[in-house]
Amino acid sequence: MARSYRTKPLRYKTATNAVALVSKLRVIERRPRPGDTHAISAKDIRLVLRICPSEYIAGLRMIELRPRHDSNVGRPYGFYEGVEKRIVLYSLPMNWSFDFHISLKYRQSLISSAARVMQTKDSTGIVWDKKEDRALWFFKDVLLHELAHHYCHQNRYRRKPASIHHEELLADLYGSRIWTGIVSTMRRR
Ligand SMILES: [Zn+2]
Repeated sequence: MARSYRTKPLRYKTATNAVALVSKLRVIERRPRPGDTHAISAKDIRLVLRICPSEYIAGLRMIELRPRHDSNVGRPYGFYEGVEKRIVLYSLPMNWSFDFHISLKYRQSLISSAARVMQTKDSTGIVWDKKEDRALWFFKDVLLHELAHHYCHQNRYRRKPASIHHEELLADLYGSRIWTGIVSTMRRR
């Protein structure tokens, strides 16, 4: 079916609006790991994606909230599966620690969402006082980052990343663009 493949718009420019796309998206919420919660519920994910620029959601088939699979937190917080066009997000506790120092950028992203970040000689502790703060951080820095990976995957013939590092930078860049799009939609309302 080469012809239909070629005529398919790569960037889904003609995609219907985000509300229609979200209505077709499967969002599955599995029971979190004992002691954890999901940073954002399936219901809230659906609500917020409805005001997301539609080109970033186009083609996405599923978002799956899964229990964290081992005692490590954030390794990873979530990931994107290009073949399945699925984003997987793991459950989280309210406090966790790493036996290493996190980058300045990582620390700033947590602190800007009101996490308390405590660094000792060779470890980092992260404490959230409010679930709402953790939800906002997770949405901006984890879900939108994975959504950006999906967008880059959809457009991979146009912008092939040179390396994994480049791919991560692109996901951060598009993730912040999605956030800007959401904020401007909210301001118009
Ligand atoms: Zn990434």
